[in-house]
Amino acid sequence: MNFSDSEIVAAILEKEGYGSTKDIRSADIIFINTCSIRDHAEQRIRKRLEYLQSLKRKNPHLVVGMLGCMAERLKTQLLEEEQVLDLIAGPDSYRDLPGLMAEVESGRKAANTLLSMDETYADISPVRYDSNGISAFISIMRGCENYCAYCVVPYVRGQERSRDADSITKEAEELFHKGFREVTLLGQNVNSYQWIRDGKKTTFAGLLEQVALVNPLLRVRFATSHPKDLSDELLGTMARYNNICKSIHLPVQSGSTRILGHMNRGYTRDQYLERIAAIRSILPGCAISSDFIAGFCDETEEDHKETLSLMEQAGFDYTFMFRYSERPDTLAAERYQDNVPSELKDRRLREIIDLQQRLSYQSNKKDVGKTVEVLIEGFSKRSDAFYSGRNSQNKVVVFPVTGNHPGEYVPVKINRFTSATLIGEAG
Ligand code: SF4
Repeated sequence: MNFSDSEIVAAILEKEGYGSTKDIRSADIIFINTCSIRDHAEQRIRKRLEYLQSLKRKNPHLVVGMLGCMAERLKTQLLEEEQVLDLIAGPDSYRDLPGLMAEVESGRKAANTLLSMDETYADISPVRYDSNGISAFISIMRGCENYCAYCVVPYVRGQERSRDADSITKEAEELFHKGFREVTLLGQNVNSYQWIRDGKKTTFAGLLEQVALVNPLLRVRFATSHPKDLSDELLGTMARYNNICKSIHLPVQSGSTRILGHMNRGYTRDQYLERIAAIRSILPGCAISSDFIAGFCDETEEDHKETLSLMEQAGFDYTFMFRYSERPDTLAAERYQDNVPSELKDRRLREIIDLQQRLSYQSNKKDVGKTVEVLIEGFSKRSDAFYSGRNSQNKVVVFPVTGNHPGEYVPVKINRFTSATLIGEAG
């Protein structure tokens, strides 16, 4: 989401005559786009500011700004705490950046952290400034109103709002004509997307279909789905179009109904597993990934075991796993005690990681001998003798370079695998 937002910021600044540089020491303005989802992310940003301070000592005219969720969360307190900062702008204030920069030029520090009810930046065509030219993100909605107990997003990204469906399709068409072959539709909870014009409602399933119809050679992905809103209608649409990738990220967070209730996730263990069964039946072969939080408030050994057993039952292809980190102002920070000891959180996280490694190994092993369609994204990081791309299930596939080019689809027979990569040969 931040990557996509940075592309919107680049477009706003380009209109003002600014360009981007890969050499940070030659920049006149540095914006750091921030995440508040975990304390660790914020600590890393603070460290980065120390480095920016050293650049500012060498170039006193350098303007340093902080954008995004951390700016929104801490507001002007940040300007007091971090002397290096000249301006801060929250996620809904990017159109105001030229005005904020003018304020800084006139010698004042500047801030805008107002959240909006309707800003979607729908009319801004993002600048794809750090792109492989093949895959791009398209932001389809902003904000979230689910108020999961551990999550800071509803407070820093505001109310949920969907972007005009036609502007999304137009952006996908433009990307396709520029040579892009894969778009990922982005939102905090894409399943609750809805756009109403002239009494006609477009749901997420409808939007997905509209984008898939742009061209059969354009792959379509999306993130993130909330389990409580994942409909059979959506799964049916995914099944109908070959170019809608067969990969669903469905964060569960815990396998215990009691903890899910504490987390305010809006579904039980059984309801989650029922959605997994629906995916398996409507979309056989679809990859399923998830997110886990180890050691949420009051989590017992029993709850943790339920998480491990849910992982086994669902058979996730890959997951993102974290230990719980309390975020200020969230429901959990206000209502619950962060009472799982640190070493228990670490041990439970370790068990989740170990289990997932085994599940990922099994998932990759099943691919050996299969021929999969790979969209070539470029050379592999390790060697220019190999291409790297992904299959529909979002797995990275590398294979010896052929006469094909990035942006083309090739069938690749999988011969072996490592923990994160399938290895094969085209043909
Ligand atoms: S759905 Fe829950 S976890 Fe996801 S952004 Fe919204 S509040 Fe946060």
